[in-house]
Amino acid sequence: MTLGVDIGGTNTKVALVRTGVATNIETFPTGSDSARLVANICEAERRCRQGPLRGAGVAVAGFLNAARDRLAYNPNLAWLAGFPLREALAEALGTGVRLEVDSNAACLAEHHLGSGRGSRRFLCLVAGTGLGGGMMIDGDLLRFNGECLGDVGHVVVDPDGPACSCGGRGCAEAMVSERGIVENAGAGDTLRDVIESATQGDPRAVEALAGAGRALGIAMASLAQIFSPDRIALAGGLAEAGALVTSAAELSFRQAVNAEARSAVTVVKAELGWRAAVIGAAAAWDRNFPLSVI
Ligand SMILES: [Zn+2]
Repeated sequence: MTLGVDIGGTNTKVALVRTGVATNIETFPTGSDSARLVANICEAERRCRQGPLRGAGVAVAGFLNAARDRLAYNPNLAWLAGFPLREALAEALGTGVRLEVDSNAACLAEHHLGSGRGSRRFLCLVAGTGLGGGMMIDGDLLRFNGECLGDVGHVVVDPDGPACSCGGRGCAEAMVSERGIVENAGAGDTLRDVIESATQGDPRAVEALAGAGRALGIAMASLAQIFSPDRIALAGGLAEAGALVTSAAELSFRQAVNAEARSAVTVVKAELGWRAAVIGAAAAWDRNFPLSVI
């Protein structure tokens, strides 16, 4: 058993992972105190533990430092930046720990076990609280700024678009934010409410999700020109809307991208849902990660 941990901007998940399956999943608020977070992860580990651990893989929302032993940057987790997270967790858990950027972890899991199987150049976009992404080329994660693909969510899609948390305007992340989609849909308070309304045929909710899909498609077209993926998967909460988002994304992608990329790339929905990051975190620990799901 390997421990998989996913430290998100809002919630943290702890799970046991074996042969690509996450079990005994514990979820709790991430909070805003580094020592408390380490203690909470250890308490969750004790509750779900079933035997000796091989090690722990920890996915963190945000950029890591070059040594990959701490969070370097995430405005939503500013209190955690610079804290010696890997060392503190290794000491508290009594086992080896590896940190990984959460979008890399999701990409790794989808590549091994989900929508990216068989892809040589796999781009996985994760639309959750923010918009991130990971890229695997011939089985290896691409690492630029922050030990990941960089801030792909801040590719500008519409220079006249809404203000973004980064200080820019019209970034893909701002165009697909939960708040923006909920405002445009005028249905409920959460993305889940909008997806529910759209599934029942509410035209404003359908259009709000399609609008987010179109923005994603344009971002995908820009990213495809740089990274030449053969497959692009959409993961995260927005992917739960399924074809309501991916159809619009694929259409706008195909309209915006050049002919060569148009024929070379397929756009798909991720398959592992919210479990992708904990499974991928465990895979980051164990390079002998099994390549099949039991
Ligand atoms: Zn931005």
